[in-house]
Amino acid sequence: MKPIVFITQKLPDQAVAELEEQYEVRMWPEENTPAPREKLLEEAKEAHALWTMLSDRVDSEVFEAAPNLKIVSNLAVGYNNIDLEAAHKHGVTVTNTPDVLTESTADLTFALLLATARRVIEAEKAVRSGDWQSWTPMGMTGQNVGGATLGIIGMGRIGEAVARRAKGFGMDILYHNRTRRNLEDVRYAEFEELLKTSDYVVILTPLTPETKGMIGAKELAMMKESACLINVARGGIVDEMALYEALKEKQIWGAGLDVFEQEPVPIDHPLLTLPNVTVLPHIGSATVQTRLEMMALNAEAIKACFENKSVKNRVC
Ligand code: NAP
Repeated sequence: MKPIVFITQKLPDQAVAELEEQYEVRMWPEENTPAPREKLLEEAKEAHALWTMLSDRVDSEVFEAAPNLKIVSNLAVGYNNIDLEAAHKHGVTVTNTPDVLTESTADLTFALLLATARRVIEAEKAVRSGDWQSWTPMGMTGQNVGGATLGIIGMGRIGEAVARRAKGFGMDILYHNRTRRNLEDVRYAEFEELLKTSDYVVILTPLTPETKGMIGAKELAMMKESACLINVARGGIVDEMALYEALKEKQIWGAGLDVFEQEPVPIDHPLLTLPNVTVLPHIGSATVQTRLEMMALNAEAIKACFENKSVKNRVC
């Protein structure tokens, strides 16, 4: 009997072709929506492997429903959607897709920072809607990026790649982690100092019990009036209602968000009513090359698990 692999969202043929030779691959057929919860629970009953998306909640209910399960391979570097304690309890390996998405996510972080600072989306809309009446001395003015201070909260793989880009813009770079690192041209700052002195606060930590709600009203109040908050990590790290208030009251100047507490962000979310927020639909790693490389890591991990080889990128 071939091991059963359930994939919770439709993936390109080339990503699954090799697996299909040796495994019984079952794949949710829709590209735009992940398998509903009931389908995940139903497939879990027989599956030996689950190939999951960051939108799938893989909790103890899933592990309890899955007596044959050996591995959960998650198409993301973040794995806050998976209950690692439950995985451990059930002896299930969990893998993620680090490194291959570092550069593309750093590119998107910088794109979002620039778009927020220079009001790119708002300006583009003005052109298309006919609101562009004439060149005006202070029209569509944004904030300087070159020479500004960048504060990175979570100086890991992606943080470092963002810092490399920032050096090219002549930025002064601060970072905050739980552990200090020995890095050139960047300076460690305490959390409060980073918030108070940065022109751009970029969040790049994982979502954990410790980082959940890490940026709330108190932290936003410490930021400069001219500062922007850029979140490409996970929505739950920022208190969205506190951010809404801070932006509305012009306590801070702008925000760029690729991630939200609830995704897709509800269309009537207060944040979407503000012009000084640039919003994206969680596309940090979304380049063709990166996504295919991430999928290749998932397939490789699943194969290694069943071939009794060492499994790379294990998080549990
Ligand atoms: P990483 O290499 O593990 O870096 C994470 C950094 O966060 C580490 O340097 C870690 O340092 C720091 N950190 C962890 N907990 C912290 C805390 N409580 N306070 C301060 N710093 C803390 O991860 P990565 O590959 O750069 O990815 C970072 C995150 O980005 C992922 O977890 C994922 O959620 C998100 N992401 C989003 C997208 C997207 O599409 N928007 C794409 C890729 C990744 P210490 O352990 O020393 O604190």
